[in-house]
Amino acid sequence: MSANDAPGDSGDAVAGEPDHDADPTDAFAVLGNEVRMAALRALLAAEREASPDADAALTFSELFEATPADETAGFAYHLRQLTDRFCRQTDDERYVLTYAGREVARAIRAGTYTDSVDVDPIPVDDPCPFCGAADLVARGTDNYVAIGCEACDRPTLTLPFPPGGHRGHARENLLEAFDRHHRHRLALLADGVCPECSAPAEARVGYRDDETTVDGGESWADATEAQDAAAGGVPRRPQVAFDCEHCGCQLRSPVTLSVLEHPAVVAFYHRHGVDVRDRPLWNVGEEWREQVVSEEPWCVRVSTRLDGDVLSLFVAENLEVVETRESSVKAS
Ligand SMILES: [Zn+2]
Ligand SMILES: [Zn+2]
Repeated sequence: MSANDAPGDSGDAVAGEPDHDADPTDAFAVLGNEVRMAALRALLAAEREASPDADAALTFSELFEATPADETAGFAYHLRQLTDRFCRQTDDERYVLTYAGREVARAIRAGTYTDSVDVDPIPVDDPCPFCGAADLVARGTDNYVAIGCEACDRPTLTLPFPPGGHRGHARENLLEAFDRHHRHRLALLADGVCPECSAPAEARVGYRDDETTVDGGESWADATEAQDAAAGGVPRRPQVAFDCEHCGCQLRSPVTLSVLEHPAVVAFYHRHGVDVRDRPLWNVGEEWREQVVSEEPWCVRVSTRLDGDVLSLFVAENLEVVETRESSVKAS
């Protein structure tokens, strides 16, 4: 059990189709009450305070005491409304959170549904991937962070960051946390797992359709675009579109960003004394190139060059890296 796993809910694995019998309207209606919210908060607090080998279950009267309810009869009614969906009774008639109850209680505690954070502009240390100016600035509006260039006026990316991330990290660490958050989400997607709901996520490499680069409010401008334009490259850029049919999560990103965690990339950088994790998503370095090798079937060559050594990854339509090659262009 990891540190983040809460005790209480065991077993009950059910595979297969989602339970569409449960009506979300009913589920959310149950939550619209101060006493029930307080009960969920108390159950979550009990889990946090329980020692690793003690259980976090609360008795009826412990729960009653933790809420603003004034009589036990009324409280019993509220608790029945929560029971089986958001909490359940243990064999000794105490109460623990269910999976749904825990998710809701954590989201409420973290401000996911209620907290809107704006951030005063933060200067970014890295140069603009388009014009090279040291004028990148991050701005936060309503739980979204946009990084753009004051010199060439181009946005590099706009992505959400949960209020807990905004509130929890000191201002000087915020952008690093934001970068880590999205790298891991992207790595999960690249591994075929949706970061929102954990269902299978599909990846498809294709040309970017400029009219639909923003999906679900998440977008990356292509950090290698300017380099290719400068090199006389084609304006049509490949990108990867991620899609989770189960929850509707979508994201589009440059192909390069979705191979950053590939072992060949991590090892290549490590051998050259560079931790590739130090390269932020808004500027992974000017040494990266992308080239469409074939459209039928799709193959994109993503390459990077350090100290005269070149690493190339050949990426198929489903984002599988079908081949890696290393070569040296060192003058000797
Ligand atoms: Zn710029
Ligand atoms: Zn999903």
